[in-house]
Amino acid sequence: MTPEEFRAWGKQVVDWIADYQAGIERYPVRSSVAPGEIRAALPAHPPERGEPFDAVLADLDRVLLPGITHWQHPDFYAYFPANASGPAILGDLLSSGLGVQGMVWATSPACTELETVVVDWLAELLGLPGHVRTDAAGGGVIQDSASSAALVACLAALHRASGGRAATEGITRRYALYVSAHTHSSLERAARMAGIGADNVRVVDVDPATQAMDPEHLAALLAADRAAGVVPALVCATVGTTSTTAIDPVPAIGRICREHGVWLHVDGAYAGVAAVCPELRWVLDGVGEFADSFCTNPHKWLLTNFDCSVLWMADRAPLVAALSILPEYLRNAATASGEVIDYRDWQVPLGRRFRALKLWAVLRWYGAEGLRAHIRRTVALAQEFAALVRADERFEVLEPHPLGLVCFRPLGPDADGRALAGMEELNASGALYLTHTKVDGRVVLRFAIGSPRTERRHVLAAWQRIRRALT
Ligand SMILES: *Cc1c(COP(=O)(O)O)cnc(C)c1O
Repeated sequence: MTPEEFRAWGKQVVDWIADYQAGIERYPVRSSVAPGEIRAALPAHPPERGEPFDAVLADLDRVLLPGITHWQHPDFYAYFPANASGPAILGDLLSSGLGVQGMVWATSPACTELETVVVDWLAELLGLPGHVRTDAAGGGVIQDSASSAALVACLAALHRASGGRAATEGITRRYALYVSAHTHSSLERAARMAGIGADNVRVVDVDPATQAMDPEHLAALLAADRAAGVVPALVCATVGTTSTTAIDPVPAIGRICREHGVWLHVDGAYAGVAAVCPELRWVLDGVGEFADSFCTNPHKWLLTNFDCSVLWMADRAPLVAALSILPEYLRNAATASGEVIDYRDWQVPLGRRFRALKLWAVLRWYGAEGLRAHIRRTVALAQEFAALVRADERFEVLEPHPLGLVCFRPLGPDADGRALAGMEELNASGALYLTHTKVDGRVVLRFAIGSPRTERRHVLAAWQRIRRALT
């Protein structure tokens, strides 16, 4: 593709995206294709001769769109949001256009240095303390996902807990990792991948009223493990659990971790970004003071296309020591000088995309003010939705719901069955999309508001549909 061909097709692609965004409401939110349907509509063999790009665009419309679930639809209330935005899409396009491989500083200094600036900017916007800045002992890095962030935090924690031996000798003792029943499954995965093992993942009790981790039970489990010769490696506290946005008591957990010398990872994948609003900054209480690592995903609720998960460390040394390997072919003067950051040492893969461009574009386009307005608007809509549900005595709302997610359930006989059947009917209709979870063994519906396209009229109409389907 020559630059002139690229220019022509590129304009068409941008037009396609703009038309898609402008007309997104005409699609059913959830795709209703059957398994294998899209595959069956695609050729079994790759083309022998190149095809014009309009053939690709035509198949996008004809074959793929029916198999797309429209995450950017204003009536998408499932899971958590995965915000896409104009500036982030354009930033990603520029990253693709530059085609930079930013594995070490020397392979593109701007790729590393812009990343250090945007993660420091974001730390400031979230009110994180100075020691997590990249120009201090800590530092931030953009990972592909909170799951990767959890894995590298785990490897850093093992490095510290083993005095560096985990990296050389492997796991020669029993280590344990501490979660609650509502901690994201990526933590158990991290324990498996890091060699800690799923049997050494301890599940700390939660407070039945709030679903938040019980610090006293954590302390008891830590003490029992230490008495049994098991080395506590990492505690994960969650700020905004995936199920219900429960917020673990980080200050109390942090004090216990400090007492036991255990690594505290705080997973704020969804909710952490809410701290751009001063009135919501309490969600990060204790994080700056106690967390050894903290992660939040601009790719969920902060208007930045997937993938963009930011991990900050209080001290980057254990992470870099755990992961740094310097083969001859990567040796260079800048790395040898020790004056630069080589982000390959902060992540699992060697190669890395120039993800900072899209976050930079988002932070500049919206400004702190625009980001706050987005969070505030979606939180306010969620509060309005919760008030509507609460006002109907046939429903129960799970309290508290301080962010963009509202969990609720119908009351009465066979509430679980009716909730699931009503949800499936709504989702199959294509009018909206919501998901469910279980709390204390009972089915609870999740209504997550987070799209810049969701307006009050969408929420009011969604509630009318939900009410009809569930009563
Ligand atoms: C969504 C979520 C994750 C996983 O995020 P990825 O970036 O998709 O790996 C982890 N933890 C919590 C609390 C989440 O809500």
